Amino acid sequence: MGKAIGIDLGTTNSCAAIVEGGKPRVITYKGGQSTIPSVFAIDEKGERLVGHDAKKQAQLNPTNTVAAAKRLIGRNYHSKTIEKVKQVFTYELVEGESNEVLVKVRDQIFTLEQISAAILRKIKEVAEEALSNEVDQAVITVPAYFNDRQRQAVRAAGKLANLKVLRVLNEPTAAALAYGLGKNLNQRIAVYDLGGGTFDISVIDIKERIFEVIATGGDTFLGGVDFDDRIMQWVLETFQKAHGIDLSYDRVAIQRIRDAAETAKIELSSVMRTRLHIPYIAKGESGPIDVDVELTREKLEELSADLVDRTVQTVERIFREAGTTKGQIDEVLLVGGQSRMPLVQRRVTEFMGKPPSKGVHPDEAVGIGASIMAHSLAAAATNDDVTLLDVLPMPIGINKVDGSMHVLFQKNQPLPDYKTRTLTTSKDNQRSIMLKIYQGEQNLCADNELLGTFVFSNIRPAPKGKVQIEVTFHIDSEGILNLTARDKQTGQTVESTLKLGKSGEEKKKELEKEPEAATPVAPPMPFTMPQSTLAATIGKAEPKGEPELTKTVTRAESTVTERAEAKPAEKAAEKASPRPETTAAPRAEPGVWDKVTSWFKGLFGG
Ligand code: AMP
Repeated sequence: MGKAIGIDLGTTNSCAAIVEGGKPRVITYKGGQSTIPSVFAIDEKGERLVGHDAKKQAQLNPTNTVAAAKRLIGRNYHSKTIEKVKQVFTYELVEGESNEVLVKVRDQIFTLEQISAAILRKIKEVAEEALSNEVDQAVITVPAYFNDRQRQAVRAAGKLANLKVLRVLNEPTAAALAYGLGKNLNQRIAVYDLGGGTFDISVIDIKERIFEVIATGGDTFLGGVDFDDRIMQWVLETFQKAHGIDLSYDRVAIQRIRDAAETAKIELSSVMRTRLHIPYIAKGESGPIDVDVELTREKLEELSADLVDRTVQTVERIFREAGTTKGQIDEVLLVGGQSRMPLVQRRVTEFMGKPPSKGVHPDEAVGIGASIMAHSLAAAATNDDVTLLDVLPMPIGINKVDGSMHVLFQKNQPLPDYKTRTLTTSKDNQRSIMLKIYQGEQNLCADNELLGTFVFSNIRPAPKGKVQIEVTFHIDSEGILNLTARDKQTGQTVESTLKLGKSGEEKKKELEKEPEAATPVAPPMPFTMPQSTLAATIGKAEPKGEPELTKTVTRAESTVTERAEAKPAEKAAEKASPRPETTAAPRAEPGVWDKVTSWFKGLFGG
């Protein structure tokens, strides 16, 4: 049996950790490095490079070097976020058949899952070398704000890298585990996570071994690279003013400036001024011209103050949503490399009225937390049980005829959970119904991320409105959605497939006019526990008395418990921190959902 590790799959760097002899530690590689750049490239000889080797040649080969792939994974090519990155990324993005983002490297097309898998494979390889042991299982962390599709994609990448993904874990929860486990705490903490590409803030209650996320939120497009961009823009402007040359069209120059900008930014966390010197960036009339400018910490703070302010505004919003005040937060953990910036620390201290905790290492906490989780999930019958109670980061809903989103699952609602809705036909003998599912906080579906389109087919012929299809949406403890459907009258399971593969043009048309496609949704029903539905779905007898599905199911050997398995603990936590009323979370036995149309299977073939 191989080892189980925790992997912090970062936008810029990734790191792995392991629990050995009861203690977590970051795995260091040859040369003492503890992180691997999350970079993939193909050089001019056609050789694939990953990690340090890929990063080293990025300046000379920017169009065939894929960095910050985490910003693209699981995203729709037509999303606003992709529009934005296309302007700053040096490599080519293309649209896949299912509107997914693909990257083109030396005329080869890769999915983002393949790119991330290459990075994960590298981590696995170097971890195996460092541990002198096979590594075949992992807990992989993701920003709390990742949607269902992004989480699925990370799982798929892990699978492609030959890793059994024990769990996709939210980064702030991982940091909280690293901070609080084994300290017998009774605290409410906030995790401020400003990494290379994303910002997350989470409010988490820790009660000894129970970690309950109260609220989470963030910005998937705010991170260290935005600070680098600010410096880069300033360098470009300064250079144009001085030499009348616009370097913004020169990809190699851009990559070199970006690298120098990041180096300068990192230096300015410990010194007050630094110099950006990039030799021979352009050719002038009288010979080669260098970039040679001085940047002070003060200037950097001026260039990026609004980015830091945006994080603080998000913190305020999430505290409001969590129904908490600054005074109720016992500790603030700063994680993510960009949180080392003195301005970030100052602003957080100012806002909170106290300095952040020194209890965790900003670069290692997430990987360490992931390793604790991996150890708990992999090791049978230890006393290391941890209870994680997580929430949904963004609402999930379905399209209404007017294009707005009917929210099925609210933001910050505890996981796991399920809901049922009844759909019906709008035409006589209609044989199929289409249902689109979205995730996001906007009112209009078109402004949210399309998670996928389900088609329910082979519906029995009947006059319009006479067939009722009851669809059950289930979100598991990782925030991943599964769907199942049955004909209410006959009890038969309805065939459903996940349909992607719309071209951009088709998609545009569809958004303009959602007629046939639009599924008439019966007026939202008050939520009731559809015991019989689920019993039918999973092929069990209808439960009597204590419903079968709400029966506490413990993963016998597992040392990690989830919400539905931890009722007493949950009650204890509820007493400590009253939270909005939530739907009781049913839990199916492991394996039950194998029968369910799983998005994962639909998207990646199981
Ligand atoms: P992470 O995704 O947590 O690895 O964070 C990476 C980001 O942190 C990158 O944008 C780095 O440039 C940035 N970073 C790393 N170290 C520092 C530092 N000392 N000061 C400011 N930013 C840093």
